Amino acid sequence: MAPRIFSRLTRKKKQRVLQRHSLKGSYDAVIIGGGLHGLATAYFLAKERGMTDVAVIERRYIGFGGSGRNTAIVRANQRTKENLPLYAEGLELWPKLTDELDFNLMFFNCGNLNLAHSEAALGSMRLLVASAQFHGIKSEILDAKQCKEIVPILDISDRLTYPIMGGMYHPPGGTVRHDAVVWGLAQGVTNHGVHIHQGTEVTGINVHKGRVVSVETDKGAISTPLVLNAAGGYSTLISAMVGIQLPIHVLTIQAMVTQPLKPILHHVVSSGGYHCYANQTLKGEIATGAHMDPWPNYTTDVSAHYIKHQAEALTELMPCLKGVKFMRSWAGLADMTPDMAPIIDGNDHIQGYFMDCGWGYFGFKSGAVIGKYMAEFMATGRYPDRLAPFTLRRYEDHRLMGEIANPVNYGPWN
Ligand SMILES: Cc1cc2nc3c(=O)[nH]c(=O)nc-3n(C[C@H](O)[C@H](O)[C@H](O)COP(=O)(O)OP(=O)(O)OC[C@H]3O[C@@H](n4cnc5c(N)ncnc54)[C@H](O)[C@@H]3O)c2cc1C
Repeated sequence: MAPRIFSRLTRKKKQRVLQRHSLKGSYDAVIIGGGLHGLATAYFLAKERGMTDVAVIERRYIGFGGSGRNTAIVRANQRTKENLPLYAEGLELWPKLTDELDFNLMFFNCGNLNLAHSEAALGSMRLLVASAQFHGIKSEILDAKQCKEIVPILDISDRLTYPIMGGMYHPPGGTVRHDAVVWGLAQGVTNHGVHIHQGTEVTGINVHKGRVVSVETDKGAISTPLVLNAAGGYSTLISAMVGIQLPIHVLTIQAMVTQPLKPILHHVVSSGGYHCYANQTLKGEIATGAHMDPWPNYTTDVSAHYIKHQAEALTELMPCLKGVKFMRSWAGLADMTPDMAPIIDGNDHIQGYFMDCGWGYFGFKSGAVIGKYMAEFMATGRYPDRLAPFTLRRYEDHRLMGEIANPVNYGPWN
């Protein structure tokens, strides 16, 4: 199927995306974190729930966290019955949001190909494909020759350290421009009257008789009955402010791009065996990643070791990339949970305190759809069915989710 780029924009006049507001002493809701999850929740609170007296508090600048650092891969071929429909709905939202926000989010519906380098990997992929198909999500198994047909620059010979035995092809996936999403949503929330306060750090949350009453920031206190922790890699620190310990450890994840090339790679390609994924951006760069430092830390340092690994992996899989230069590399924080699924919760421990965190290296693709359900949750106080499986209590109840056994996730592949 020919890839489609969704862009049907009608914007005529230019306007400032962000307006500055002074910090008010009270808001109906305070969202901590100006990443995709925080902004999407603010957007849907305002647009669908009529709650516009909302402040998004961002310590640095919008998109400073993972939302501005990810490799922009979106897909719905998860493993579990809880995740599959949620991510499928998330995929369908990108073209709708592009229209609605009147902002080109550059959804590139190019499809994702996950390579298998062993019979065992192919077997796991068959299970994934069956689960996806059961939920009406397009996904199929390809043999090595078929992989080569859709990605001609792949080497499918047996010269490879880990020869390609086949793959799982997921046509509805692709990429969305990450900073466009951040700015599009920021414009959307601003148009609805929501205040975004950049350069403002939340330093405390006050709870009285089991209810949130106010938030402390380095620019002053804010009275509010509703707080959302959407602080990504810093979410454990925010939760500690209300005495809730989260089973999250923070790892650094790195990515990089090559110099721009003419179009040669028309799909997102990932390989568990090579610990590497790549796609060609609309600018022509090959964006590639997968490496996580295996020790917890809060730095965003990159390492020469990883650049070397990535060059070796990419050029084995796609030998025509030999000699291509890397232009930039960067890193961000991944807030990892024990079962590769997020923690989405609210009101259970403290009235008015909500959490949307633990998104690891897969929280970009889900950001918009989660924002929609999170807004419903915060506005009504009722747990939407779609979010109910992701409660924090599942860890206490030993009901870990099965996503960790997904060979596409267990990578990381994004
Ligand atoms: C290199 C890399 C590649 C990735 N690739 C993909 C991918 O291809 N596909 C995918 O789905 N996911 C990917 N991810 C994961 C994805 O980027 C994250 O899961 C997602 O962006 C999380 O969004 P968020 O809004 O929850 O958090 P963030 O975007 O991290 O936002 C949290 C914000 O909270 C702010 N904050 C923290 N503490 C405070 C405080 N005290 N007061 C005020 N503000 C505060 C931070 O400054 C930050 O801006 C990748 C991540 C990285 C790092």
